[in-house]
Amino acid sequence: MNTPGIQALIDALPSKSWTQDPDIIAPSLVEWRDKYQGNTPILLMPGSTQECAQAVRLCAAHGLSIVPQGGNTGLVGGQTPQGEVLLSLRRMNRVRDVNVTAGAMVVEAGATLHAAQNAADAADRKFPLTLSSEGTATVGGVLSTNAGGNHVLKYGTTRDLVFGVEAVLADGSVFNGLTSLRKDNTGYDLSRLFLGAEGTLGIITAASLKLFPKPDFVARAMMAVGSVEDAVALMTRLRGPALAMFEVMSRIGFAAVTDNFENERDPFPEAHPWYVLADFEVANAAAGEALVSDLLEGAIDDGLVRDAVLAQSDTQARALLSIREHMSAGQKFLGGSIKQDITVPLDRIAEFFTRADAAMQRVVPGCRPVGFGHFGDGNIHYNVAQPDGADRDAFLARWDDVSETVFDIVDDLGGSISAEHGIGIMKRETLARRADPVKMDMLRRIKRAMDPDGVMNPRVMV
Ligand SMILES: Cc1cc2nc3c(=O)[nH]c(=O)nc-3n(C[C@H](O)[C@H](O)[C@H](O)COP(=O)(O)OP(=O)(O)OC[C@H]3O[C@@H](n4cnc5c(N)ncnc54)[C@H](O)[C@@H]3O)c2cc1C
Repeated sequence: MNTPGIQALIDALPSKSWTQDPDIIAPSLVEWRDKYQGNTPILLMPGSTQECAQAVRLCAAHGLSIVPQGGNTGLVGGQTPQGEVLLSLRRMNRVRDVNVTAGAMVVEAGATLHAAQNAADAADRKFPLTLSSEGTATVGGVLSTNAGGNHVLKYGTTRDLVFGVEAVLADGSVFNGLTSLRKDNTGYDLSRLFLGAEGTLGIITAASLKLFPKPDFVARAMMAVGSVEDAVALMTRLRGPALAMFEVMSRIGFAAVTDNFENERDPFPEAHPWYVLADFEVANAAAGEALVSDLLEGAIDDGLVRDAVLAQSDTQARALLSIREHMSAGQKFLGGSIKQDITVPLDRIAEFFTRADAAMQRVVPGCRPVGFGHFGDGNIHYNVAQPDGADRDAFLARWDDVSETVFDIVDDLGGSISAEHGIGIMKRETLARRADPVKMDMLRRIKRAMDPDGVMNPRVMV
């Protein structure tokens, strides 16, 4: 039996714009890590901005709250409804315009990041945001979480890659910020409010994204190093206009991938404590080879780099990246894993590991920290695997103790408890406890001003 609000949605929207079929809805109620399970009375799938606005107006009028969902790859539970109306942007996936002269393209929120990259590529341009989830994650999702990924080092986070957004507000009105202007000093930057808002202020329906010149050639190298200190020293040495990616992986996580996935191969004859994967954007293969050998010559002589391979073909380049892309998935072979996504200032990365690794042994003796991530941005995925042979559930029951210990160190180092995955449900209380009270108050005031009745994703972030 539908409530009057749900019935009003059914009566008003075309039949292809909603469903109550449990089989169709089911995949949208579980997420990648199987950490959150949801429920909803209805899944809305508007086909246009106007239809999305109509749905939001009806929800607001009947006191219904909405959870927006893109590709459902979020890792903090923000896209999983708990009784709210679920609104998927899956049917709004068109590339509306690609304008090479303006350096901009307008893409609807339900298009995958991969589709946006392809649209740029077809115009001989680059949209540089890259994540392992890009085949499924959507433009609306990456904007709403201000996603990071592998190329933040050179191109910035999503916030740096967006001119403006079109969004349906909590009262059903439509904000049109689809501009390609590089300069516009006419008041607050309203589009920016929606970037990283995790669906709490409105529904992004389309975005004007920045296009970049395509690099002529990308040289990819993997280097083996002896310690986190050496990885950081190498990053400082390699930093320059060509460096576009600097990813680091610890041996335990690296081996979990290369030992367990059939197609993943360790490119080195010997094991090493840490591995660095770097991209250099250069004019051609020969320039890449010259640059990398020039940069590495001193690093090898100084003992900073123990061994190195430079990809000689696209296939080899893909194979090296594939190891990094499987780092999260590889951890399942280590049993239960307590995962953190944090940032610290670049000059304190090594100190973070020294302190966190020691603290972890005090909290769960025998546990196995698996550090990896986007070191070029100070972004560490500090995942702690259970002690070998320990009881998985008993270990996972320590999630809060492990997290709080890590967050204490992060706060002390002037870092952030959420580098790129956002706050969602997972870190909402932690944010409220740890954030500067003035910041928290400003976040809440903005939320109240834009969504006084709590229509938009009311259990998330603030
Ligand atoms: C294997 C894997 C690798 C990943 N790697 C990275 C990485 O390198 N960097 C990184 O930053 N993240 C990474 N993530 C996390 C995730 O992919 C990103 O957070 C992504 O941006 C989420 O996009 P989505 O479309 O799946 O959003 P969803 O998961 O559907 O939603 C995420 C949040 O955004 C809101 N939302 C979604 N669409 C809209 C919209 N149109 N309007 C308003 N709110 C909306 C939701 O309500 C929710 O709060 C990874 C995830 C996986 C599974």
